[in-house]
Amino acid sequence: MIRVSVVGAQGRMGASVVQAVEAAQDMQIAQKITENDDIAAVTADNTDVAVEFTVPSAALDNVLKLIAQGVSVVVGTTGWTDEKLDRVKAALADAPHQGQAVFIAPNFAISAVLADKFAAEAAKYFTSAEVIELHHPNKVDAPSGTAIHTAHAIAAARREAGCAQMPDATQGEVASRGQSVDGVHVHAVRLQGLNAHEEVLLGNAGEQLVIRADSFDRASFMPGVLLAVRNVASGEHPGLTVGLDTFLDL
Ligand code: NAP
Repeated sequence: MIRVSVVGAQGRMGASVVQAVEAAQDMQIAQKITENDDIAAVTADNTDVAVEFTVPSAALDNVLKLIAQGVSVVVGTTGWTDEKLDRVKAALADAPHQGQAVFIAPNFAISAVLADKFAAEAAKYFTSAEVIELHHPNKVDAPSGTAIHTAHAIAAARREAGCAQMPDATQGEVASRGQSVDGVHVHAVRLQGLNAHEEVLLGNAGEQLVIRADSFDRASFMPGVLLAVRNVASGEHPGLTVGLDTFLDL
């Protein structure tokens, strides 16, 4: 049995993770940590993997403490910067146990990870590519981290293939053209009734390919979280890993 502690256990994602772990045949809940609990209760003696879903302002501190307590971590909380990732890497280099791992996924939904991958594969075959992300109106950031990631993946694939710049006769900076991320335009829609959705539009003269991922419910993230827990618990991925694609054999 993999012993899983959940940090942020009373949050929307944390509560779903507790349910998913309890329903999994090969896992059991070790500790449930809320904002009022001491994270020091999560130790290598009681926990194989901690799952962290809290708030961006707390996540780095939580992860550093868990590393120091000898625990490997799966992280879903957003807001990671290169500087924060460097601090995680440095802490892992001094981790008390060999093979300790931290895994961070900007998006645990299999559909979103595959959409990213397919968009990057398709990008070099098209003259134009744009990303539209659509979310519920309570989302605080725009464009979404996932859309930014998709745009970077498209841009990198096009650079590698030596693609020409995308045609666009728009003069100057025009807000309605969205945000240019690495040269790829990203548009953000906030609409009541939506959850988390992303479309990649790829265009050639006379044809279009649309890749769309829809996450209707938090349940969509749970298979990815459990996959990450199993991979981290296996001890085969020591150090810092970012992105669920690593575990999907793509
Ligand atoms: P949420 O419902 O607001 O839950 C966050 C929880 O963390 C709250 O219960 C909060 O407690 C608790 N918390 C805050 N600081 C803490 C601390 N220091 N220690 C322990 N618990 C603490 O948010 P959510 O919807 O679950 O989302 C959580 C994070 O996951 C966000 O960053 C979100 O963007 C991200 N997310 C990622 C994915 C993905 O696929 N990677 C998917 C969905 C969401 P209080 O309410 O008492 O403050």
